[in-house]
Amino acid sequence: MGRIAYVNGRFVPHGEAMVHIEDRGYQLADAVYEVWAVFGGRLADAEGHFARLERSLGELRIAMPMSRAALTLVLKEALRRNRVREGMIYLQVSRGVAKRDHAFPTTAVRPAVVITASTVDREGVEARAAKGVSVVTTPENRWGRCDIKTVGLLPNALAKQKAREAGAAEAWFVDDLGFVTEGASSNAWIVDGEGRLRTRDTNANILRGITRSTLLDVIAREGMEVDERPFTPADAVAATEAFITGAGTLVLPVIAVDGKPVGQGAPGPVAIRLRRLYIEQAKAAAI
Ligand code: PMP
Repeated sequence: MGRIAYVNGRFVPHGEAMVHIEDRGYQLADAVYEVWAVFGGRLADAEGHFARLERSLGELRIAMPMSRAALTLVLKEALRRNRVREGMIYLQVSRGVAKRDHAFPTTAVRPAVVITASTVDREGVEARAAKGVSVVTTPENRWGRCDIKTVGLLPNALAKQKAREAGAAEAWFVDDLGFVTEGASSNAWIVDGEGRLRTRDTNANILRGITRSTLLDVIAREGMEVDERPFTPADAVAATEAFITGAGTLVLPVIAVDGKPVGQGAPGPVAIRLRRLYIEQAKAAAI
């Protein structure tokens, strides 16, 4: 069975799914997106992702293309048509199609909506998580509004490519003061010598990760301590553990930073446990 995409109100074969050449997402990255993890055909952290979508759209003054309820139905239908039980679903909303001009179109345009769904091999993913991954660092070179989840991802793409060429799975951006901001497509965490969890606070120029936010709830419920104090790559190497979070990676142990082992150079007990607890929580709350 072939993949099916949703484009502006229609489900179409993936290979025939097209947007206009003057879509502002294509020309100007004037578009936002969301990615939900899918467990058992249900959307994980649905509320958080919808809330962030609305916020991102609001910051760009793009209207919600349809109600949350309608969007939920379309997302679920995309999962159904692609027979995705375990996987991810991607939603992109651009300002729409208009004659190329940097400023917003002066006449009303309809936001363009694209949805794609994909299956992940959970067993393969779990095997990878059990081994842990490496990260490399790269200078922070993104714009000042990383809190908006736009498709303007060129610095992230270049950072990820740098990681890949170094045999690593993720790149951590490091700001002018030497502190890690976040990953190219994930939030960054360590467990420090005192057993405290550390992750960058969301007043910094980072994306407010939904997985991060749900994990903070899980951590609070477990009575563990979090310190939203910035850390350096050297702090990560000196830490007992490190991990990343995101809808794609869930909670994924990091075993090396720039080739230097973190802790024992193997996934640590905190990250392994938090991964299990996050997945349990996400599955239980999925809609
Ligand atoms: N930071 C960046 C830059 C990202 O692209 C992502 C993934 N979308 C995240 C953090 C993690 O966010 P979430 O947990 O909402 O997937």
